[in-house]
Amino acid sequence: MVVIETEAEYKAMQLFVQDQKKIGLNVTLLDTKQVREAEPYLDEHLLGAAYCPMDGQVNPIALTLGFGLAAKKLGADIYPNTCVTGMVVKGNRIRTVQSSQGQFEAEVVVNAAGVHASEIAKMAGLDVPITPRRGQLMVTEAVPMILRHVLISAKYIAAKYNPDLALKDGEGASIEQTLNGNLLLGSTREFAGYDKRTTVKKLRMIAERTSKILPYLKKTSVIRAFAGLRPYTPDGYPILGPVKGLEGFIIAAGHEGDGIALAPITGEIIARSIVRGQADSILSEFRLERFYPPSASSEIK
Ligand SMILES: Cc1cc2nc3c(=O)[nH]c(=O)nc-3n(C[C@H](O)[C@H](O)[C@H](O)COP(=O)(O)OP(=O)(O)OC[C@H]3O[C@@H](n4cnc5c(N)ncnc54)[C@H](O)[C@@H]3O)c2cc1C
Repeated sequence: MVVIETEAEYKAMQLFVQDQKKIGLNVTLLDTKQVREAEPYLDEHLLGAAYCPMDGQVNPIALTLGFGLAAKKLGADIYPNTCVTGMVVKGNRIRTVQSSQGQFEAEVVVNAAGVHASEIAKMAGLDVPITPRRGQLMVTEAVPMILRHVLISAKYIAAKYNPDLALKDGEGASIEQTLNGNLLLGSTREFAGYDKRTTVKKLRMIAERTSKILPYLKKTSVIRAFAGLRPYTPDGYPILGPVKGLEGFIIAAGHEGDGIALAPITGEIIARSIVRGQADSILSEFRLERFYPPSASSEIK
């Protein structure tokens, strides 16, 4: 549920819901009464919420291990704790990946290194504009199940429809309850390099914003806080597919705050284009070349 706190957000969310419906998604706008019926613990100041019954919740760690196990069953070799340290490029083609566990010869190399994708690309002589965008989160003690849905505030989505609503860091609030009963409270969107520390200022902001939406939080203890780094690109879209001028090198990174949700479709289209030996047409809009003028697009430094 995308919860709405102001009139301006409400107007922006009406446009958002219209757009979602146009592409066939089952999204509705709930009014204050319907929001309270769906989530009785939410504060009365909320004006409504966008709701999509198809949305879901996953544990990203379990999901990643699941993908790993499935890949192993299909014959993949996985090398944990192995650091890629260099690439050998010969005649505009990737030949070898150097790592802390030795060298690997490869016809195709996929750079799916998240916020570190730009470092890996540099080893192959490429400039890839992916930078870390920090997100801080707090975790509360386990409490009885008080939420039925994942909640995010409309601030972030509404900002895309109404530039006046755009906050400097694009920060809204998110609240979700895990199966164990802990509440995950987020989040920030900050450029702080690779610094994964949390800050008192931002944690205080998260506490204020989330407890305004869910007053129950005021009597709930926080047991820990942490930060993660999202792989940010300047236009907000991931960088996917082969790179002109460097054969055998494929990028699948830069999904910022949507990389868990977009993992399956990314895997599918990247695998398809490797197996077919030609890039899927859907990839054309996501290629690295969009960041460089045509004359420089195929340059390898
Ligand atoms: C606070 C927060 C909230 C988020 N919420 C959501 C959400 O609700 N929904 C959603 O879809 N997404 C969410 N995301 C975003 C999501 O976590 C990322 O988009 C996603 O993890 C990116 O996946 P990835 O596989 O590209 O990169 P990663 O998951 O970062 O994986 C990259 C891998 O490459 C490895 N690597 C890096 N360098 C090297 C090297 N030199 N050698 C070998 N291996 C290397 C790393 O160890 C890592 O295992 C959130 C992120 C944050 C921080």
